[in-house]
Amino acid sequence: MRIARYTTGDEPAYGVVREHEGRQMIAQVHGDPMYRSLEPTGVVVALDDVRLLAPVIPRSKVIGIGKNYADHAAEMGGEAPKEPLVFLKPNTAVVGPGDPVTLPAISNEVHYEGELAVVIGRICKDVPKERVREVVYGYTVANDVTLRDLQRSDGQWARAKGFDGSCPLGPWIETELDPSDLAVITRLDGEVVQSGRTSQMIHDVPTLVSYVSQAFTLLPGDVIITGTPAGVGEVHDGSRVDVEVEGIGMLTSTFVSA
Ligand code: MN
Repeated sequence: MRIARYTTGDEPAYGVVREHEGRQMIAQVHGDPMYRSLEPTGVVVALDDVRLLAPVIPRSKVIGIGKNYADHAAEMGGEAPKEPLVFLKPNTAVVGPGDPVTLPAISNEVHYEGELAVVIGRICKDVPKERVREVVYGYTVANDVTLRDLQRSDGQWARAKGFDGSCPLGPWIETELDPSDLAVITRLDGEVVQSGRTSQMIHDVPTLVSYVSQAFTLLPGDVIITGTPAGVGEVHDGSRVDVEVEGIGMLTSTFVSA
């Protein structure tokens, strides 16, 4: 099932995205489906007539995983770390599908990173790998936008990966998906620049969720982004980046100068 968060100009609403007679429609539901059972309001709108919003604003955090694909670790000039490399993005980093990302004046080297994102569905801690399925609400698409120059110069990645707009999420949450072998494709201005599969992850989704839950209590709506395949590169004023994950959909972001 595809759960979208959207607006038609008023307050944000949630709905289930379904195809109906060849058209993509959203059936609105009461409240936030992450916290209550799905109950349709009866209002149905065409997907084309709404503005999609980030499908979730993380309650507390986005947890990032660095260098989780060997070919990306290699292009960054080293080997992948033995254990998952964990960083945080604040929830103010999150923007929705189609939202412009302002290139911050503090950087001269901004990169896209297309990734699969895991959305947590319940409060949990110290989750064994075998039980990770129980705590996952669903999956969406992320762009782990990174200030590569500040990542090098700061050491700590707080600014480089946590600045406003550094975490586009969307277009919706797919709740029924096997994340083990999905294509992850990024296009820059229409040209394919990243093409990987989640089966190439060094640490798979169950391992990552279990691993981070040993350090952090995970809350419903927290998001874990799982690393990027090779092919990262720069964006500039006017760049358009489409990140597509098989079985979920496409997240589009445009970049604009400050
Ligand atoms: Mn990344």
